[in-house]
Amino acid sequence: MTDQYGRDIRYLRISVTDRCNLRCIYCMPEEGVPCVSHSDILTYDEITRICRIGTELGISRIKLTGGEPLVRRGLPDLLRMLKALPGIEQVTLTTNGTLLKENLGALTDAGLDGVNISIDTPDAARYEQVTRGGKLSDALVGLEAALTYPALTVRLNCVPMQEMPEEDYIRLAELSREKVMDVRFIEMMPLGQGKAFPAVRGERVYRLLKERFGEAGKCEGTFGNGPAVYVRFPGFAGKTGFIDALSHQFCSACNRVRLTSEGILKPCLQYGTGTDLRLLLRSGAGDDEIKAAMEQTIYEKPACHQFAKDRQEAAIFETRDMSQIGG
Ligand code: SAM
Ligand code: SF4
Repeated sequence: MTDQYGRDIRYLRISVTDRCNLRCIYCMPEEGVPCVSHSDILTYDEITRICRIGTELGISRIKLTGGEPLVRRGLPDLLRMLKALPGIEQVTLTTNGTLLKENLGALTDAGLDGVNISIDTPDAARYEQVTRGGKLSDALVGLEAALTYPALTVRLNCVPMQEMPEEDYIRLAELSREKVMDVRFIEMMPLGQGKAFPAVRGERVYRLLKERFGEAGKCEGTFGNGPAVYVRFPGFAGKTGFIDALSHQFCSACNRVRLTSEGILKPCLQYGTGTDLRLLLRSGAGDDEIKAAMEQTIYEKPACHQFAKDRQEAAIFETRDMSQIGG
């Protein structure tokens, strides 16, 4: 459906859990966040019902995220339920990759279309530091396993940080020289823990890569669900993408809404506002009532985020960490 600004909203990002087996310094506090109790998390049936109603409003693409989505048991079951919905064209996953290998068979059997794996540095010691204890080898095993499924779209996501040596971006980008996968650089957003880490601009990363690999050709067309701009360096099998949420506000083309693990339908990443669909579901609301609530939330989606403005403490803005929203 189109919102009040004429944007076509087709993409739903669903956080299936706020729990995670890592503690990335820009995403989660060291002690973790107070975990939502199991009974407060939407069940797979509830998520599927929301998505079924969402398809009547034009939702056709879904991303499963978290926290770490693979710490929630039975994720392939949810995937299968979502893929069976008429109108759902694509279901993809965003994961830190550390639990991916053992789950990939079941996920691909259930119809997984693509996987984004978050790896911010190719250096094991720095990875351990950024993730507060994670093992790079676990994530790389997940990445390698994903690459053995030719039908799966595989992307590596990196959020550059000023603390990281710039050589790291070059080494990560270089992975797509031989491998058919995209490597994407995502500007740090000043949300939750991320506020403490100034963004490295996509343009800076691009200039570094250009010095090393030569001038890249711009890839025309739309790839994936959103605002990434893709280029291809000479001789590279895969593309390099940039998601510059700060440098190039792309809200006028935003096509997404988010569902938190507790069932809040969030129309914009930065705003704390949303509609409590769990309350409706559990108070016996019918499909029409839920659909009307979703329709109104989507219609009223804010025009744009205000990251560039120093208004972070304003009451309307999101105070949750990214692990609670799903990125
Ligand atoms: N655990 C999974 C993972 O790491 O991919 C899924 C959830 S995580 C919140 C989704 C994405 O959000 C990750 O790529 C992570 O790097 C990114 N992220 C977290 N905090 C961020 C921030 N402040 N700005 C930009 N991206 C952020
Ligand atoms: Fe967990 Fe992903 Fe956040 Fe890292 S970025 S703490 S892996 S949710």
